[in-house]
Amino acid sequence: MGQTHSTDLLIIGAGPAGYTAAIYAARASLSPVLLTGMQPGGQLTITTDVENYPGFAQAIQGPWLMEQMSAQAEHVGTKIIYDMVVSVDFTKGSPFHVTTDGGDTWIAKSVIIATGAQARWLGLPNEKRLQGAGVSACATCDGFFFRGKRVAVVGGGNTAVEEAIYLTHHADHVTLIHRRDSLKAEKILQERLFAHPKVSVIWNSAVEDIQSGGTPEAVTGLTLRDTVTGATSELAVDGVFIAIGHSPTTAMFGNQIELDAEGYIVTEPGTPRTSVPGIFAAGDVQDRTYRQAVTAAGTGCMAALDAERYIGGLIPNTKPEA
Ligand SMILES: Cc1cc2nc3c(=O)[nH]c(=O)nc-3n(C[C@H](O)[C@H](O)[C@H](O)COP(=O)(O)OP(=O)(O)OC[C@H]3O[C@@H](n4cnc5c(N)ncnc54)[C@H](O)[C@@H]3O)c2cc1C
Repeated sequence: MGQTHSTDLLIIGAGPAGYTAAIYAARASLSPVLLTGMQPGGQLTITTDVENYPGFAQAIQGPWLMEQMSAQAEHVGTKIIYDMVVSVDFTKGSPFHVTTDGGDTWIAKSVIIATGAQARWLGLPNEKRLQGAGVSACATCDGFFFRGKRVAVVGGGNTAVEEAIYLTHHADHVTLIHRRDSLKAEKILQERLFAHPKVSVIWNSAVEDIQSGGTPEAVTGLTLRDTVTGATSELAVDGVFIAIGHSPTTAMFGNQIELDAEGYIVTEPGTPRTSVPGIFAAGDVQDRTYRQAVTAAGTGCMAALDAERYIGGLIPNTKPEA
């Protein structure tokens, strides 16, 4: 039988956004409770080298960085609970009700949602195993590791084209692979892509397999299938960036709070405030553009500061009239 608990501030999610919110909230004496979900530490726990989180001259390991954030959050007074949210009731306003997989109910004056997003993958057998060994879903994060190499980008939307253009700063050659004969990306991005001397496009092709070899094992090439003729071909590359979109983790917030067409939580521009006063969102769950550990941490800080002001009565409990 589950138990009912009360807290001033409940933080949902244990990535950079959730832990940073927890650190700020704990230091503001809010005694926050943080529910970790299934992936304590968030997305950075599935990567290796992180070279762009400020404060470290040498590359650090993603899981290590997240252990430090967790320890810091706990050290300053956060209660960390290894349970995941299955449903919420935000309809009656503050205090809000949150139910967990373990059967507990949390009643909180304010809630920070930091449940992140997951990159969409192709679902190929080798894809997961080779993450960190040539397979990536983040050019900003990993492009630097492909200096002077050949890479492929899979996808046809804005993200794929932006990632391909970004990768030209590092890689010798970038091949964009798209399963159709035209791109969905904005025209201006397409023009920049097609004009770039380091870029080529393979149309009507799907990645069927990722080849690897060497010690340590790394990506060596791709098997492509022509989506029109069915013919297969090989492409030698050192890395492949899957850019077919992200899925924000918001299924349980569906009818409770405003989401955009892709499921991201809508926040007031420049703030972590959602459509429900007292509910704040931070990190990738509300960010379709930047999706970095440092931006997640930054918005986590903003959410904690706003939650503190909300609980203290400095942010109104009602939305201003439109
Ligand atoms: C392979 C890889 C490499 C990357 N490399 C870099 C890099 O080098 N530098 C960089 O800046 N960024 C990098 N990123 C991006 C970075 O990891 C994300 O931008 C960042 O982790 C987002 O933080 P977040 O706190 O918003 O969410 P996440 O890290 O996604 O964390 C979400 C948290 O929410 C929890 N959660 C989800 N659902 C529930 C639920 N129902 N109940 C409770 N909790 C829940 C999860 O368990 C998790 O703890 C990388 C991403 C990937 C996938």
